[in-house]
Amino acid sequence: MHCLRPAVLSATAETFVAAFPGDVLYAVKCNPDPAVLRALHDGGVRHFDCASLNEVRLVRDMFPDAAIHFMHPVKARGAIREAWERHGVRTFVLDSAAELAKIRAEVAATGVPGRLGLVVRLAMPKGDARLDLSGKFGAPAEQAVALLQDARPDAAMLGVSFHVGSQCMDPLAWRIALDLTGGVIRAAGVKIDVVDVGGGFPVAYPDQEPPPLGAFLAEIEAGFDRLGVQGARLWAEPGRALVAGGASVVMQVQARRDDALYVNDGVYGSLSDAGALGFRYPVRLIRPGQDATGALVPFRFYGPTCDSADVMHGPFLLPADIAEGDWIEIGQLGAYGACLRTAFNGFDRARIVEVVDRPMLETPGYDTRSVSIAA
Ligand SMILES: *Cc1c(COP(=O)(O)O)cnc(C)c1O
Repeated sequence: MHCLRPAVLSATAETFVAAFPGDVLYAVKCNPDPAVLRALHDGGVRHFDCASLNEVRLVRDMFPDAAIHFMHPVKARGAIREAWERHGVRTFVLDSAAELAKIRAEVAATGVPGRLGLVVRLAMPKGDARLDLSGKFGAPAEQAVALLQDARPDAAMLGVSFHVGSQCMDPLAWRIALDLTGGVIRAAGVKIDVVDVGGGFPVAYPDQEPPPLGAFLAEIEAGFDRLGVQGARLWAEPGRALVAGGASVVMQVQARRDDALYVNDGVYGSLSDAGALGFRYPVRLIRPGQDATGALVPFRFYGPTCDSADVMHGPFLLPADIAEGDWIEIGQLGAYGACLRTAFNGFDRARIVEVVDRPMLETPGYDTRSVSIAA
Protein backbone atom coordinates (compact mmCIF):
# COMPACT_ATOMS: atom_id res chain seq x y z
CA MET A 1 0.00 0.00 0.00
CA HIS A 2 1.39 3.36 -1.04
CA CYS A 3 0.75 6.23 1.35
CA LEU A 4 0.80 9.59 -0.42
CA ARG A 5 1.37 12.78 1.58
CA PRO A 6 -0.04 15.54 -0.65
CA ALA A 7 0.57 18.27 1.93
CA VAL A 8 4.23 17.27 2.20
CA LEU A 9 4.58 17.25 -1.60
CA SER A 10 3.04 20.72 -1.88
CA ALA A 11 5.15 22.14 0.97
CA THR A 12 8.34 20.69 -0.51
CA ALA A 13 7.55 22.08 -3.96
CA GLU A 14 6.73 25.45 -2.44
CA THR A 15 10.10 25.52 -0.66
CA PHE A 16 12.08 24.65 -3.78
CA VAL A 17 10.16 27.01 -6.06
CA ALA A 18 10.60 29.88 -3.58
CA ALA A 19 14.31 29.20 -3.07
CA PHE A 20 15.41 28.51 -6.65
CA PRO A 21 16.31 31.67 -8.60
CA GLY A 22 14.69 30.57 -11.85
CA ASP A 23 12.16 28.13 -13.31
CA VAL A 24 11.58 24.76 -11.64
CA LEU A 25 10.79 21.90 -14.03
CA TYR A 26 9.54 18.77 -12.26
CA ALA A 27 11.08 15.61 -13.76
CA VAL A 28 7.88 13.63 -14.26
CA LYS A 29 9.51 10.18 -14.53
CA CYS A 30 10.36 10.25 -10.83
CA ASN A 31 6.70 9.89 -9.87
CA PRO A 32 3.98 10.48 -12.48
CA ASP A 33 1.02 9.70 -10.22
CA PRO A 34 -1.70 12.28 -10.98
CA ALA A 35 -2.18 12.99 -7.28
CA VAL A 36 1.54 13.76 -7.03
CA LEU A 37 1.45 16.05 -10.06
CA ARG A 38 -1.59 17.81 -8.60
CA ALA A 39 0.11 18.34 -5.24
CA LEU A 40 3.26 19.73 -6.87
CA HIS A 41 1.13 22.05 -9.00
CA ASP A 42 -0.63 23.19 -5.81
CA GLY A 43 2.86 23.93 -4.46
CA GLY A 44 3.61 26.23 -7.40
CA VAL A 45 5.27 23.98 -10.00
CA ARG A 46 4.28 25.21 -13.48
CA HIS A 47 6.99 23.60 -15.64
CA PHE A 48 7.32 19.90 -16.36
CA ASP A 49 10.30 17.96 -17.69
CA CYS A 50 8.85 15.10 -19.76
CA ALA A 51 10.80 12.35 -21.48
CA SER A 52 8.07 10.47 -23.36
CA LEU A 53 4.88 11.17 -25.24
CA ASN A 54 2.79 9.53 -22.52
CA GLU A 55 4.28 11.89 -19.92
CA VAL A 56 3.55 14.84 -22.21
CA ARG A 57 -0.07 13.73 -22.71
CA LEU A 58 -0.59 13.14 -19.00
CA VAL A 59 0.69 16.58 -17.98
CA ARG A 60 -1.17 18.37 -20.78
CA ASP A 61 -4.46 16.64 -19.88
CA MET A 62 -4.10 17.73 -16.26
CA PHE A 63 -2.66 21.24 -16.73
CA PRO A 64 -3.69 23.00 -19.95
CA ASP A 65 -1.50 26.02 -19.14
CA ALA A 66 1.66 24.28 -17.90
CA ALA A 67 4.94 24.63 -19.76
CA ILE A 68 6.06 21.19 -20.93
CA HIS A 69 9.67 20.63 -21.97
CA PHE A 70 10.69 17.50 -23.88
CA MET A 71 14.01 16.75 -22.18
CA HIS A 72 15.00 13.33 -23.55
CA PRO A 73 18.01 13.64 -25.87
CA VAL A 74 16.75 10.82 -28.14
CA LYS A 75 13.12 11.14 -29.16
CA ALA A 76 10.85 9.22 -31.51
CA ARG A 77 9.98 11.26 -34.61
CA GLY A 78 6.26 10.84 -34.05
CA ALA A 79 6.63 11.98 -30.45
CA ILE A 80 8.28 15.24 -31.52
CA ARG A 81 5.48 15.89 -34.04
CA GLU A 82 2.62 15.17 -31.67
CA ALA A 83 4.23 17.12 -28.81
CA TRP A 84 4.68 20.20 -31.02
CA GLU A 85 1.41 19.98 -32.91
CA ARG A 86 -1.07 18.84 -30.30
CA HIS A 87 0.41 19.64 -26.89
CA GLY A 88 2.14 22.98 -27.42
CA VAL A 89 5.57 21.66 -26.44
CA ARG A 90 8.17 24.16 -27.65
CA THR A 91 11.40 23.11 -25.90
CA PHE A 92 13.41 20.08 -26.98
CA VAL A 93 16.73 18.87 -25.69
CA LEU A 94 19.43 17.38 -27.93
CA ASP A 95 22.99 16.11 -27.66
CA SER A 96 23.81 15.28 -31.28
CA ALA A 97 23.65 16.74 -34.78
CA ALA A 98 21.34 13.89 -35.80
CA GLU A 99 18.81 14.80 -33.11
CA LEU A 100 18.98 18.48 -34.08
CA ALA A 101 18.21 17.55 -37.68
CA LYS A 102 15.39 15.28 -36.51
CA ILE A 103 13.78 18.02 -34.40
CA ARG A 104 14.06 20.57 -37.23
CA ALA A 105 12.54 18.20 -39.77
CA GLU A 106 9.67 16.98 -37.62
CA VAL A 107 8.69 20.43 -36.35
CA ALA A 108 8.76 21.77 -39.92
CA ALA A 109 6.67 18.81 -41.13
CA THR A 110 3.81 19.79 -38.84
CA GLY A 111 3.47 23.16 -40.58
CA VAL A 112 2.49 24.63 -37.20
CA PRO A 113 4.40 27.85 -36.45
CA GLY A 114 5.85 28.49 -32.99
CA ARG A 115 8.87 29.66 -31.06
CA LEU A 116 11.29 26.72 -31.05
CA GLY A 117 13.39 26.24 -27.93
CA LEU A 118 16.53 24.13 -28.25
CA VAL A 119 18.61 22.98 -25.30
CA VAL A 120 22.01 21.34 -25.79
CA ARG A 121 22.82 18.79 -23.11
CA LEU A 122 26.45 18.62 -22.07
CA ALA A 123 28.27 15.44 -21.09
CA MET A 124 29.47 15.49 -17.51
CA PRO A 125 32.68 14.07 -16.10
CA LYS A 126 32.03 11.03 -13.94
CA GLY A 127 31.18 12.38 -10.48
CA ASP A 128 30.24 10.59 -7.29
CA ALA A 129 26.47 10.95 -7.41
CA ARG A 130 24.66 7.85 -6.14
CA LEU A 131 23.39 7.27 -9.69
CA ASP A 132 26.00 8.24 -12.22
CA LEU A 133 24.40 9.55 -15.43
CA SER A 134 27.58 10.55 -17.24
CA GLY A 135 27.80 7.63 -19.64
CA LYS A 136 24.58 7.67 -21.58
CA PHE A 137 23.69 11.21 -22.66
CA GLY A 138 25.40 14.51 -23.26
CA ALA A 139 27.62 16.03 -25.93
CA PRO A 140 31.34 16.37 -25.19
CA ALA A 141 32.46 20.01 -24.97
CA GLU A 142 33.78 20.39 -28.50
CA GLN A 143 30.66 18.87 -30.03
CA ALA A 144 28.43 20.97 -27.76
CA VAL A 145 30.12 24.12 -29.07
CA ALA A 146 29.33 23.11 -32.65
CA LEU A 147 25.74 22.20 -31.73
CA LEU A 148 25.12 25.57 -30.07
CA GLN A 149 26.46 27.40 -33.12
CA ASP A 150 24.44 25.21 -35.45
CA ALA A 151 21.22 25.51 -33.42
CA ARG A 152 21.34 29.26 -32.75
CA PRO A 153 19.80 30.50 -36.02
CA ASP A 154 16.80 28.12 -35.64
CA ALA A 155 16.17 28.76 -31.99
CA ALA A 156 13.87 31.39 -30.54
CA MET A 157 15.32 30.17 -27.24
CA LEU A 158 18.71 28.48 -26.92
CA GLY A 159 19.84 26.76 -23.74
CA VAL A 160 22.51 24.55 -22.25
CA SER A 161 21.74 21.75 -19.79
CA PHE A 162 23.46 19.04 -17.81
CA HIS A 163 22.65 16.46 -15.14
CA VAL A 164 25.26 15.86 -12.44
CA GLY A 165 23.76 12.46 -11.52
CA SER A 166 20.97 11.51 -9.15
CA GLN A 167 21.24 11.85 -5.34
CA CYS A 168 24.36 14.00 -5.76
CA MET A 169 25.55 14.84 -2.24
CA ASP A 170 28.22 17.38 -3.20
CA PRO A 171 27.32 21.00 -4.04
CA LEU A 172 30.73 21.31 -5.74
CA ALA A 173 29.44 19.08 -8.56
CA TRP A 174 27.36 22.05 -9.74
CA ARG A 175 30.36 24.39 -9.56
CA ILE A 176 32.38 22.02 -11.76
CA ALA A 177 29.46 21.57 -14.16
CA LEU A 178 28.79 25.30 -14.45
CA ASP A 179 32.47 26.08 -15.05
CA LEU A 180 32.49 23.47 -17.81
CA THR A 181 29.32 25.07 -19.18
CA GLY A 182 31.04 28.47 -19.15
CA GLY A 183 33.89 27.14 -21.26
CA VAL A 184 31.46 25.79 -23.83
CA ILE A 185 29.43 29.00 -23.96
CA ARG A 186 32.54 31.17 -24.42
CA ALA A 187 33.91 28.90 -27.13
CA ALA A 188 30.59 28.90 -28.98
CA GLY A 189 30.34 32.68 -28.87
CA VAL A 190 26.57 32.68 -29.30
CA LYS A 191 23.85 34.23 -27.15
CA ILE A 192 22.51 31.85 -24.47
CA ASP A 193 18.96 32.27 -23.15
CA VAL A 194 18.73 29.42 -20.61
CA VAL A 195 21.15 27.60 -18.32
CA ASP A 196 19.52 24.41 -17.04
CA VAL A 197 21.29 22.87 -14.03
CA GLY A 198 19.30 19.63 -14.23
CA GLY A 199 18.23 17.44 -11.33
CA GLY A 200 20.20 15.37 -8.86
CA PHE A 201 19.34 17.34 -5.69
CA PRO A 202 19.65 14.85 -2.82
CA VAL A 203 17.32 13.88 0.01
CA ALA A 204 18.04 12.33 3.40
CA TYR A 205 18.28 8.55 3.83
CA PRO A 206 19.27 6.81 7.07
CA ASP A 207 22.92 6.65 5.96
CA GLN A 208 22.96 9.95 4.04
CA GLU A 209 22.46 13.44 5.46
CA PRO A 210 22.88 15.93 2.61
CA PRO A 211 24.01 19.53 3.07
CA PRO A 212 21.02 21.87 3.20
CA LEU A 213 19.34 22.95 -0.04
CA GLY A 214 20.84 26.43 0.39
CA ALA A 215 24.38 25.08 -0.04
CA PHE A 216 23.47 23.73 -3.50
CA LEU A 217 21.68 26.91 -4.51
CA ALA A 218 24.63 29.05 -3.38
CA GLU A 219 26.97 27.11 -5.70
CA ILE A 220 24.47 27.39 -8.54
CA GLU A 221 23.99 31.15 -8.12
CA ALA A 222 27.72 31.81 -7.86
CA GLY A 223 28.47 29.55 -10.84
CA PHE A 224 25.74 31.19 -12.89
CA ASP A 225 27.10 34.65 -12.07
CA ARG A 226 30.57 33.57 -13.24
CA LEU A 227 29.10 32.64 -16.64
CA GLY A 228 28.33 36.29 -17.27
CA VAL A 229 25.39 35.40 -19.51
CA GLN A 230 23.39 38.61 -19.29
CA GLY A 231 19.65 38.13 -19.50
CA ALA A 232 19.77 34.32 -19.37
CA ARG A 233 17.34 32.38 -17.17
CA LEU A 234 18.18 29.56 -14.81
CA TRP A 235 16.25 26.31 -14.92
CA ALA A 236 16.41 23.23 -12.68
CA GLU A 237 14.85 19.79 -13.19
CA PRO A 238 14.45 18.29 -9.72
CA GLY A 239 12.76 14.92 -9.39
CA ARG A 240 13.75 13.06 -6.23
CA ALA A 241 14.08 16.22 -4.10
CA LEU A 242 10.48 17.25 -4.71
CA VAL A 243 8.79 13.91 -4.11
CA ALA A 244 10.87 11.44 -2.05
CA GLY A 245 9.44 12.49 1.31
CA GLY A 246 5.91 12.60 -0.09
CA ALA A 247 5.17 8.86 -0.09
CA SER A 248 5.83 5.72 1.88
CA VAL A 249 4.97 2.07 1.37
CA VAL A 250 3.40 -0.31 3.88
CA MET A 251 4.27 -3.97 3.44
CA GLN A 252 3.76 -7.11 5.50
CA VAL A 253 6.18 -9.62 7.00
CA GLN A 254 5.17 -13.05 5.73
CA ALA A 255 7.98 -15.05 7.27
CA ARG A 256 11.00 -14.49 9.46
CA ARG A 257 14.18 -16.55 9.36
CA ASP A 258 16.75 -15.15 11.78
CA ASP A 259 17.69 -11.69 10.50
CA ALA A 260 15.90 -12.15 7.16
CA LEU A 261 12.33 -10.90 6.71
CA TYR A 262 10.29 -12.25 3.81
CA VAL A 263 8.07 -9.33 2.82
CA ASN A 264 5.45 -8.67 0.14
CA ASP A 265 7.22 -5.90 -1.74
CA GLY A 266 10.63 -6.03 -3.34
CA VAL A 267 12.99 -5.05 -6.13
CA TYR A 268 10.40 -5.85 -8.83
CA GLY A 269 7.93 -3.71 -6.87
CA SER A 270 8.56 -0.33 -5.35
CA LEU A 271 11.90 -1.22 -3.73
CA SER A 272 13.96 -1.44 -6.90
CA ASP A 273 16.67 0.91 -5.63
CA ALA A 274 17.03 -1.08 -2.40
CA GLY A 275 18.26 -4.00 -4.51
CA ALA A 276 21.42 -3.73 -6.58
CA LEU A 277 21.86 -0.02 -5.76
CA GLY A 278 21.68 -0.75 -2.04
CA PHE A 279 19.55 2.23 -1.01
CA ARG A 280 18.62 2.25 2.66
CA TYR A 281 15.25 3.67 3.61
CA PRO A 282 13.79 4.74 6.94
CA VAL A 283 11.57 1.94 8.31
CA ARG A 284 9.19 1.53 11.21
CA LEU A 285 7.15 -1.31 12.60
CA ILE A 286 3.37 -1.00 12.56
CA ARG A 287 1.60 -3.40 14.92
CA PRO A 288 -1.96 -2.14 15.36
CA GLY A 289 -3.05 -1.76 18.95
CA GLN A 290 0.37 -2.57 20.35
CA ASP A 291 3.56 -0.65 20.86
CA ALA A 292 6.69 -2.07 19.31
CA THR A 293 9.10 -3.47 21.87
CA GLY A 294 12.73 -4.44 21.91
CA ALA A 295 15.89 -2.80 20.74
CA LEU A 296 16.35 -2.02 17.06
CA VAL A 297 18.43 -4.63 15.27
CA PRO A 298 19.51 -4.94 11.63
CA PHE A 299 17.44 -6.97 9.15
CA ARG A 300 17.57 -7.71 5.45
CA PHE A 301 14.48 -8.19 3.30
CA TYR A 302 13.60 -10.84 0.75
CA GLY A 303 10.98 -9.74 -1.77
CA PRO A 304 7.99 -11.85 -2.79
CA THR A 305 9.15 -13.06 -6.22
CA CYS A 306 11.00 -16.32 -6.77
CA ASP A 307 14.08 -14.54 -8.13
CA SER A 308 17.04 -14.75 -5.77
CA ALA A 309 18.05 -11.25 -6.94
CA ASP A 310 14.92 -10.03 -5.12
CA VAL A 311 16.88 -9.22 -1.97
CA MET A 312 17.47 -5.95 -0.14
CA HIS A 313 20.46 -6.00 2.18
CA GLY A 314 19.81 -2.66 3.91
CA PRO A 315 20.46 -3.14 6.79
CA PHE A 316 17.03 -2.03 7.97
CA LEU A 317 16.74 -1.39 11.70
CA LEU A 318 13.58 -2.85 13.27
CA PRO A 319 12.51 -4.11 16.71
CA ALA A 320 14.10 -7.42 17.65
CA ASP A 321 10.73 -9.11 18.21
CA ILE A 322 9.36 -8.42 14.72
CA ALA A 323 7.41 -11.42 13.48
CA GLU A 324 5.22 -12.84 10.74
CA GLY A 325 2.08 -10.73 10.33
CA ASP A 326 3.71 -7.45 11.39
CA TRP A 327 3.60 -4.47 9.04
CA ILE A 328 6.53 -2.28 8.05
CA GLU A 329 6.28 1.27 6.74
CA ILE A 330 9.13 2.36 4.49
CA GLY A 331 9.69 6.07 3.97
CA GLN A 332 11.31 8.31 1.33
CA LEU A 333 9.66 6.22 -1.40
CA GLY A 334 7.89 9.01 -3.23
CA ALA A 335 10.80 9.03 -5.66
CA TYR A 336 11.53 6.09 -7.97
CA GLY A 337 9.23 3.82 -5.95
CA ALA A 338 5.73 3.19 -7.26
CA CYS A 339 6.71 4.08 -10.83
CA LEU A 340 9.21 1.21 -11.02
CA ARG A 341 6.73 -1.52 -10.07
CA THR A 342 6.39 -4.47 -12.42
CA ALA A 343 3.82 -7.27 -12.56
CA PHE A 344 6.54 -9.94 -12.33
CA ASN A 345 5.39 -13.13 -10.64
CA GLY A 346 1.90 -11.70 -10.14
CA PHE A 347 2.81 -9.25 -7.38
CA ASP A 348 1.40 -6.16 -9.01
CA ARG A 349 -1.46 -4.97 -6.83
CA ALA A 350 -0.93 -1.92 -4.70
CA ARG A 351 -3.46 0.46 -3.22
CA ILE A 352 -2.77 4.15 -3.01
CA VAL A 353 -4.12 6.04 -0.02
CA GLU A 354 -3.64 9.63 1.02
CA VAL A 355 -2.34 10.32 4.52
CA VAL A 356 -1.66 13.54 6.40
CA ASP A 357 1.45 12.77 8.42
CA ARG A 358 4.94 14.18 8.06
CA PRO A 359 7.73 12.56 6.03
CA MET A 360 9.54 9.75 7.88
CA LEU A 361 12.82 11.66 7.42
CA GLU A 362 13.27 15.40 7.00
CA THR A 363 15.76 16.64 4.40
CA PRO A 364 17.72 19.73 5.50
CA GLY A 365 16.44 22.91 3.93
CA TYR A 366 12.91 21.75 3.12
CA ASP A 367 10.35 23.17 5.45
CA THR A 368 7.53 20.73 6.09
CA ARG A 369 6.87 21.94 9.64
CA SER A 370 3.72 23.67 8.47
CA VAL A 371 2.31 20.31 7.38
CA SER A 372 -0.40 19.01 9.68
CA ILE A 373 0.38 15.90 11.68
CA ALA A 374 -1.86 12.88 11.77
CA ALA A 375 -3.61 12.04 15.03
C1 LIG B 1 15.85 11.74 -14.08
C2 LIG B 1 16.13 13.10 -14.58
C3 LIG B 1 15.93 14.21 -13.74
C4 LIG B 1 15.57 14.09 -12.29
O1 LIG B 1 16.65 13.63 -11.57
P1 LIG B 1 16.62 13.55 -9.95
O2 LIG B 1 17.93 12.96 -9.62
O3 LIG B 1 15.46 12.71 -9.59
O4 LIG B 1 16.47 14.96 -9.47
C5 LIG B 1 16.12 15.47 -14.28
N1 LIG B 1 16.49 15.63 -15.57
C6 LIG B 1 16.70 14.59 -16.40
C7 LIG B 1 17.10 14.85 -17.80
C8 LIG B 1 16.55 13.30 -15.93
O5 LIG B 1 16.77 12.27 -16.74
